[in-house]
Amino acid sequence: CGIFGIWGHPEASELTYIALHSLQHRGQEGAGIVASSGDYLFGARGMGLLTSALSKEQLASLKPFPHAIGHVRYATTGGSELSNVQPFLFKSHTGDLGLAQNGNLVNAMNVRRALEDDGAIFQTTSDSEVFAHLLRREKTGNRKSKIKKVLRQLKGAFAFVIMHEDSLTVALDKHGVRPLMLGQKDGAYCVASETCAFTAIGAEYIRDIEAGEVITITDDGIDFDHYTERTSPHMCSMEYIYFARADSEFRNTSTYRIRKELGRALATEMDVEADIVIGVPDSSLAAANGFSEATGIRQEQGLLKNRYVGRTFITPGQEARERAVRMKLSPVRDIVEGKRVIVIDDSIVRGTTSRFIVKALKQAGAEEVHMGVSSPPLKNPCYYGIDVSTHAEIIASRKNPEEIREEIGADSLTYLSVDRMHEVYYGFGSKGQCDACFTGNYPIDIEETILPQEK
Ligand code: 5GP
Ligand code: SF4
Ligand code: MG
Repeated sequence: CGIFGIWGHPEASELTYIALHSLQHRGQEGAGIVASSGDYLFGARGMGLLTSALSKEQLASLKPFPHAIGHVRYATTGGSELSNVQPFLFKSHTGDLGLAQNGNLVNAMNVRRALEDDGAIFQTTSDSEVFAHLLRREKTGNRKSKIKKVLRQLKGAFAFVIMHEDSLTVALDKHGVRPLMLGQKDGAYCVASETCAFTAIGAEYIRDIEAGEVITITDDGIDFDHYTERTSPHMCSMEYIYFARADSEFRNTSTYRIRKELGRALATEMDVEADIVIGVPDSSLAAANGFSEATGIRQEQGLLKNRYVGRTFITPGQEARERAVRMKLSPVRDIVEGKRVIVIDDSIVRGTTSRFIVKALKQAGAEEVHMGVSSPPLKNPCYYGIDVSTHAEIIASRKNPEEIREEIGADSLTYLSVDRMHEVYYGFGSKGQCDACFTGNYPIDIEETILPQEK
């Protein structure tokens, strides 16, 4: 998912809309905005891409209000239905609460069961709703200390934007799995999942929000705090590899640059002679560029991406996915014909993309097709908010690299090693990375999320 929030700007909801548009790649199933007048909260939500989720009329109704939060949804827990689209808006006699989350709470089911047994009635199947119930039950202390107490009860990956009539609170879990950035626009503070949102609204990128931080923004200014001192940074490696937009920055380094360096690192581990290097558009062009620079093998745009391939009309299922890949990617015949080709992709999940690419390039006349993957073999599901799907679907959980090479029909297949991947991240100042989908070392206990039959 993607989240955004801004406090104290006359165009708060329009800026939120623009910011969410730039975060669309983080979630396409639904979108919403909750705005505050200073006295009450108002919200609008809808299904699908932002442009269809929110109408002009809905946006206009939020226009007068100077504070806003927004969300684009990517369903990892809870069904794909309107009731699960965020931000949530809760009303109570003590005041309103707006809430949006990126990430997954791994103890949400247990917390929810306990709350239900105690009389709570949930309105959604989203894991985020437990936050509101827990907060409502805190009876002592001021608002910030109540929020901190609730955060300490949650386990998992979470970046929250929490709106009350008179404050915007943002919080990042103590492992800092999902990205969260602080910015400023015309003197108003804003937060976003990625810095591309700041670029889109013309805001200044101040810094990355740290694991365990709680930041409160009101008309009186900004307050920095932590909900725990026991932090253990484990930033999601997939954000760098694939998920974040290439122009988004982490600690002032673009993911484009990080991906380029992953491509360079792969070059040190892939000893293959070839005539050209092709990146799979769009997310792997940077890695192919780094690979090309490191090896001196010329980079060509040998695959073209059809920019009009949407996802909404494509029903899930393997056949539909294969059709979608064929509609999305197409080889440039006279560039690849008679050539020994290295294709760089950022990841192999099911193998659908690689299988298609190898076949398509060979049909277009490529003499040899060698696959280079700028990440390690992806073997395990993610429980922290990225949908790399179930074990059964993940090809590297069933097969070793040689078997995968055979299945996709490539002349060779090389993955980046886990160690080289980490070297790249630490080279850019990482304070710690999650690599559980590659190594199975889950930094946050997942016991509570695993169903008995999956164990
Ligand atoms: P595969 O076709 O092997 O199932 O998936 C690999 C391709 O999907 C790569 O080109 C990669 O860029 C992209 N990809 C990697 N992770 C994800 C993900 O979590 N969701 C989606 N939709 N695509 C992904
Ligand atoms: Fe990211 Fe993989 Fe960790 Fe999930 S398991 S948070 S996708 S690195
Ligand atoms: Mg790709």
